[in-house]
Amino acid sequence: MNTPTTTRVPVIKIGLVLLLLSSLVSIACSRVPMTGRRQLDLIPTETVLSMSFQQYDEFLKSNEVSTDQEKAAMVRKVGGRIQKAVERYFNDQGMSHQLRDYQWEFNLIESEDVNAWAMPGGKVVVYTGLLPVAKTESGLAVVMGHEIAHAVAKHGDERMSQALLAQMGGMALSEALKTQPEKTKELWLTVYGVGAQVGVLLPYSRTQESEADHLGLIFMAIAGYDPNEAVDFWERMAAEKGGAAPPEFLSTHPSDKTRINNLKKLIPEAVKYYGKQ
Ligand SMILES: [Zn+2]
Repeated sequence: MNTPTTTRVPVIKIGLVLLLLSSLVSIACSRVPMTGRRQLDLIPTETVLSMSFQQYDEFLKSNEVSTDQEKAAMVRKVGGRIQKAVERYFNDQGMSHQLRDYQWEFNLIESEDVNAWAMPGGKVVVYTGLLPVAKTESGLAVVMGHEIAHAVAKHGDERMSQALLAQMGGMALSEALKTQPEKTKELWLTVYGVGAQVGVLLPYSRTQESEADHLGLIFMAIAGYDPNEAVDFWERMAAEKGGAAPPEFLSTHPSDKTRINNLKKLIPEAVKYYGKQ
């Protein structure tokens, strides 16, 4: 009669441990929109957003915001349209809570770098050096769609989580900020693509790049920009490679041929969203 009782205890214990482990894993993970991939996510959203807003303000203070009203207005216009597309997509997917505390902002920075990035919370920067390559509103929509996709797919949070695990022994971000503020800040800037040079930037993974291309293409289509323009844009970008290699786009992305071929495969899906606005 006693035998079942004695064996039941460890079974319950194992069950409890498994339950605890699975809940920990689910707490530490989130899912990428559209692709459904599970990703490591150790950082509370409030912490990510408050750090993002603070770093963005600091960046704007220490860099030259463009006084070209016309170009700045174009960046805000394209950004605003992508923002609405993202909001609509997230709303349709029942995920709009993920964007609840966003404070969208689109700024043009005076710089020769062919660059743009987006931090969590909708904080976006485009460099004037990118505009000749973007050429048109649609070209700009390709880049901004791609960068905003990185942000809303929490790719930076994922890399920051991985970096905290690898470089700081899994320390919580709040703790890392308290004990090693400079190192944490540096890590943050490299993770979110704010670092100005190749090598400084901790690259997005191939998977993240493909996801950003995929999501970005859908977002630009919802925003009313022809997704076919993405192919022309990345071909222009590939031609830029001969010059000073800028961060994000040229250093870490899949080879141009692979990227353009992958994009071509995604265009029929994106076209379904185009013209529906
Ligand atoms: Zn990218």
